Amino acid sequence: MMDFQQIFGASPETEASAPGRVNLLGEHTDYNDGFVLPTAIPQRTTVQLGLSKDGQHQFYSAEFDEQVSISGEDTAPEGFASYIFGCIRLLEESIGHSLQPVNLHVTSKVPIGSGLSSSAALEVATLKGLRSLFGLALDDVQVAQLGQQAEIQYAGLNCGIMDQMASSLAGTDSMLFLDTRTLERRVLAFPADAEILVIDSGVHHSLAAGSGYNQRRAECEEAARLLGVKALRDITDPQAVESLPEPLRKRSRHVVTEDNRVLEAVEGVSAKRFGELMNASHASQRDDYEVSVPEVDTLVAILQETPGVFGARLTGGGFGGACVALVEVGKVEEISREVLERYMRSGYAGRILVPEV
Ligand code: ADP
Ligand code: MG
Repeated sequence: MMDFQQIFGASPETEASAPGRVNLLGEHTDYNDGFVLPTAIPQRTTVQLGLSKDGQHQFYSAEFDEQVSISGEDTAPEGFASYIFGCIRLLEESIGHSLQPVNLHVTSKVPIGSGLSSSAALEVATLKGLRSLFGLALDDVQVAQLGQQAEIQYAGLNCGIMDQMASSLAGTDSMLFLDTRTLERRVLAFPADAEILVIDSGVHHSLAAGSGYNQRRAECEEAARLLGVKALRDITDPQAVESLPEPLRKRSRHVVTEDNRVLEAVEGVSAKRFGELMNASHASQRDDYEVSVPEVDTLVAILQETPGVFGARLTGGGFGGACVALVEVGKVEEISREVLERYMRSGYAGRILVPEV
């Protein structure tokens, strides 16, 4: 791997990092003003920065071994540089003046495209790095908001605020309960005697423009309009969506029941009950929201049948990616081995992402 010195011929002036996240409950609720319950994962994205001397921004990603040069006036680039460029542009707009060009070097342990939000980790690390380099007064919530706008306006994913809030504010030892409308939040302990297991299904679909993600969001907005509410978060009784035409009925049924599951989970339920809520969340994502794929359904079913697993579900935007399970403390290794073996016998290749190996 080429380090900052090798790429830019100088030492970095500052650095910042941000973690990926895994969402335990509350999927596709954030862009409906609803409730989410993520936690940070141990894997982080690190950004090192210095001032560029040649009048151009220089971005290098070690994961992609790719370097992009761009001037502040250029139009937005494609690919990984779009996230970084978007962060710089939006930061400039928010502070009201342009920034000096930077050299920026990215390394990351966050799996890319597995639903653990490597994109938010990149945005949050970039913004915290710029905050440090230029000594800007910007709090962690503002960082998350700018990161979300970068993803919407420059990467073309019409996402909610969860990923960036989790990456900017969550820890690995607790759950972050977030009301995405008010940004009110609470740090909560995991259910007693339980820990988190995340397994990659091996199927990766990009979420950006053209995927079903933006389409789901549009369906939710249409459903809210027909129901006469600002957002689906304003519906609490699942019966209320029954008058809608399909597919809006099942899409909103998922969102309304999912919000209710998060609200129950944060009342301090047992690991057993929390697991049941995760299982119900998976069924709802699969049948009503239709964001799962057969490989993920297979992996979730294997997890749910394995002793010591309280519950399991698809996590992240969907269309592939990772599954999260809540498992009995001390059993994570045994469970991982058994689940990976059975998943392999079904013809697929999985991989443990959390705990970090
Ligand atoms: P995820 O679920 O991992 O967030 P996304 O499709 O939302 O999946 O974001 C993945 C994209 O984010 C990558 O294709 C790349 O453009 C960008 N990205 C994430 N991490 C890095 C990295 N370490 N280096 C360069 N680009 C990255
Ligand atoms: Mg992402």
